[in-house]
Amino acid sequence: MFIQVAVPGPFLTPLDYKFVYSEKNILPVVGGRVWINLRNRKLIGIVMSISETSDLDESKVRAITEVVDETPIFSETDMTFLKWAAHYYHEPVGNVMQTAVPKRLRQGEAVKLEGVTAWQLTDEGRGARKQIRDNAHQQIALMEFLQAHPYPVMESVISACLAGWQAPMKRFHQLEWVSKTTLKCLHAWQPAEQERHAFNDEQQAAIDAVLASDGFRPFLLEGVTGSGKTETYLGMIEAVIAQGKQALVLVPEIGLTPQTVARFEGFLEQPVAVMHSGLTDKERHCAWYMVQSGEVKVLLGTRSAVFTPFADLGLCILDEEHDLSFKQQDNFRYSARDCLVRRAQLENVPVVLGSATPSLETLYNALSDRYGYLKLTQRAGGAALPNISLMDVRGDDSLQTQAGVSAGLRELIAEHLANDGQVLLFLNRRGYAPVLMCHDCGWQAACPSCDANMTYHHQFRELRCHHCGYQQKAPVNCPNCGSEHFAKIGQGTEQLEQVMQHLFPEETLLRVDRDTTRNKGQMEAVTKQARAGEARILIGTQMLAKGHHFPKVTLVALLDIDQGLFSCDFRAAERMAQLVIQVAGRSGRAQKQGQVVIQTYHPDHPLLETLVTEGYDAFARQALEGRRLAELPPYSFQIMLRAESIDPHSAWQFLLDIQSALYQQAEPAQVAQASLEALGPVSAPMLRKQGRFRYQLLLQANQRGILHHWLGSLESRIYAHPLSQKVRWSIDVDPQEMA
Ligand code: ADP
Ligand code: ZN
Ligand code: ZN
Repeated sequence: MFIQVAVPGPFLTPLDYKFVYSEKNILPVVGGRVWINLRNRKLIGIVMSISETSDLDESKVRAITEVVDETPIFSETDMTFLKWAAHYYHEPVGNVMQTAVPKRLRQGEAVKLEGVTAWQLTDEGRGARKQIRDNAHQQIALMEFLQAHPYPVMESVISACLAGWQAPMKRFHQLEWVSKTTLKCLHAWQPAEQERHAFNDEQQAAIDAVLASDGFRPFLLEGVTGSGKTETYLGMIEAVIAQGKQALVLVPEIGLTPQTVARFEGFLEQPVAVMHSGLTDKERHCAWYMVQSGEVKVLLGTRSAVFTPFADLGLCILDEEHDLSFKQQDNFRYSARDCLVRRAQLENVPVVLGSATPSLETLYNALSDRYGYLKLTQRAGGAALPNISLMDVRGDDSLQTQAGVSAGLRELIAEHLANDGQVLLFLNRRGYAPVLMCHDCGWQAACPSCDANMTYHHQFRELRCHHCGYQQKAPVNCPNCGSEHFAKIGQGTEQLEQVMQHLFPEETLLRVDRDTTRNKGQMEAVTKQARAGEARILIGTQMLAKGHHFPKVTLVALLDIDQGLFSCDFRAAERMAQLVIQVAGRSGRAQKQGQVVIQTYHPDHPLLETLVTEGYDAFARQALEGRRLAELPPYSFQIMLRAESIDPHSAWQFLLDIQSALYQQAEPAQVAQASLEALGPVSAPMLRKQGRFRYQLLLQANQRGILHHWLGSLESRIYAHPLSQKVRWSIDVDPQEMA
């Protein structure tokens, strides 16, 4: 008997192995694991199929080492889905399996798991705070954490909030201040008492439409920020659970907060499994097992959770469907959104994509009736939507002296502060200044390995490259002329904070960017502070734009978003619009109407004007029309081939060879019919990054099937190309970023 096994590595198809019957060997099954030997490494593979014969010379086929699973870990539908993903993304099937199987299962652990470790204070521990010495900071921190979480807490949750908790926990355990329990489920957080609202008409209509779909049907749920999308999902999930089925809910990494989990558990009155990058290997395994075995009904997860097998899946949901984090940008470059829709189709269940600012792709599907189109147009609880306006900053001299804050904006900020409001300033650039230049000779601090300037960070007195992570001390003298005078050009959040503190010395400021939230638990603490309204001026990057509600914010200002209007990436305007609406949505959740202002040098730009005066939908329709005229997605389909090499030539040559091979084998009739094109190779917008020269070849066509077939028929030759081992290359289907 022969079995075809998916093993990690650059193999386009499963590899053939022999299975020899013997008393001690259990029989392999399709969708189960086996141990194999590959280049002297013992590896887990997944059985893709079983056959009586092999195309290979039988004497050359090796035997598998051992069968692990008697019963499949992936169902037939799962296998069809995973094979589809490998095929669609032109990804070796073994790598897809690698993504789909949790690490511990790839190490051969048994599927069944009793649970994961959790910690809780004992009666004795509750009274023990006084016994800890004042300088035992880690012990104090742990004690305070445990007091604030009076229920069994999973280890990854502690890790997310505290560094170095292990040693003090061990000590507490010896003292019998804490007890160790095994959680059968990922009952990560104490469920929040959930106030139940009656669904409004739009929410109810959305729930009814989804529940009425007989089998597969995709929906776009377009709901303005604060319209109660989450509650609408919960209504759908509750009904599906009542039918004894399970639900899969995907959210962006940043949206999977403890509050979200608590909200789900509170509403549904049962534990949900959680899957994200912060879990321990064992916790991930546990979540996977609970879902696969059907013991838990809901999985709330980030991107890669889309591959988790379910016992009886009844509904798929993806929140913030426009979010870029659903697309994996390295290795296996899948889109969790597109995978989820395909999966729902194979499982024959409804799938709901929710957003306040749907991607043009999804909107196009809704407008052309491929997807059901559901809308929530009102903010739940009657809160008003903010009023958005443009602020023309042409010729404003204050921009230079006030870290990019115009005179008009400064007045507005003062006004809101005087009226007891909270202000949020959005600037998507961390650090002090993006360019450090010698005042006397014009020398600029550039990264040694990238074609980019290094950002000056005042806090660390350092220059840092935001593209490769390289950092060095900021120079005291210019390396070129020795001058001590440097100009700091452009503004980052650090500078903005400094200037705002100077302008409003009485106010408490809070800066939220990667530099202020790097340490464990910092993000939690900072957003809590921001929500409470203690700091009345919030300054933040992208991090502040998503997922968090700040009910006391009355003014939101976007300082510098113009680059979104003139980028070489055709999606830049769409992303700019999504960002504006999402940032705007942070405000005015209370009864006060919020105000949003956008500083711009281009107040007449048609897309910006439409966005501000008519809203996102009108903007999106206008942008879609632009895409149609330019024959860009969703009116055409793209695959990006990228290659990079240390020398400037190899990567380019590699792509050039692929391009000529593509044209050689293309049938002229198809080229004409599908407008097949292989554009390039061209250098990437940033040619050199981390010491490598980067090039791209863009394949485009107006028919997806023909495009994929064109590349697919060449795939084995790409892998066999002599340069394929020398250059780093990748295939990106439906690329989301042109970089
Ligand atoms: P979204 O996800 O659309 O931004 P949320 O689901 O977070 O919005 O809901 C915003 C707020 O409105 C929440 O505090 C939620 O509890 C509340 N809410 C949701 N549905 C209703 C309703 N039908 N009536 C009153 N309040 C509601
Ligand atoms: Zn100089
Ligand atoms: Zn760099």
